[in-house]
Amino acid sequence: MNTGSKKKIVKEIKVDLDKCIGCRACEVACSAFHARPKYSSTNPARSRIRVVIDELNDCYVPIRAGDYTPAECTGRHAYTINGKQYRECSFCGVSCPSRDLFKEPDSGLPLKCDMCEDDPPLEEPMCVQVCPHDALTYEEREEEGEEEGTREELEIGLESLAKKHGVQKVRDAIARMSKKD
Ligand code: SF4
Ligand code: SF4
Repeated sequence: MNTGSKKKIVKEIKVDLDKCIGCRACEVACSAFHARPKYSSTNPARSRIRVVIDELNDCYVPIRAGDYTPAECTGRHAYTINGKQYRECSFCGVSCPSRDLFKEPDSGLPLKCDMCEDDPPLEEPMCVQVCPHDALTYEEREEEGEEEGTREELEIGLESLAKKHGVQKVRDAIARMSKKD
C-alpha cells in the first residue's frame, strides 16, 4: 500500500576538521548529558562522540556513534591522509564486536548518538554547544520521504544483553526486577 511521502526533519552535525583543536570538550559534555542522573558524572568512555587523534599530523577527527551491528565487517577500509595510513576502523562510528569503542564500559551495551533528544528539546546538541571553535555546527532541514523505521535504544540494548548473557538470563533478570517494583 502506498502511504505517500511524508516530510521528515533531518538533523545534521557538520564537522569542520580545520577548526577542531582536539580539546575533547564534546566527549565530556556528551557523557555528562547522558549520565544518570543527568550531569552527575563525566566519563569520555561513555561518550557517543570520540575524537580520533593523529598526533603526527596534528589532526583531530570527531566521530559520532552510529548504529549497533552484531557482525564485524567482512572487508575493511584503509585511509591515507597527508601520507599517513590510518587504522581501518579509525573513522567508523559503528558499535561492533571487534572493538570496545562506543560501548558502555560496565555493561558492554552499545552507545548511539541520539542527537541529545530531550523534553523540552535542546536548541542544539550538547557537543555542538560546548565546542569552543565551532568545529561542530548543527543544522535541521526538511526532506521529502518516508519516516525511517528506527529501532528503539531499548530494543537494541536488550538484544545486546541477550547475545552476551543468553535470552533466559535476561528474562529472569527482568522478572526479578518486576517483582521489586
Ligand atoms: S549530539 Fe548529543 S548524543 Fe550525539 S554525540 Fe553530540 S552530545 Fe553526544
Ligand atoms: S569540542 Fe570541538 S574543538 Fe574540541 S575536540 Fe570536540 S569537536 Fe574538536
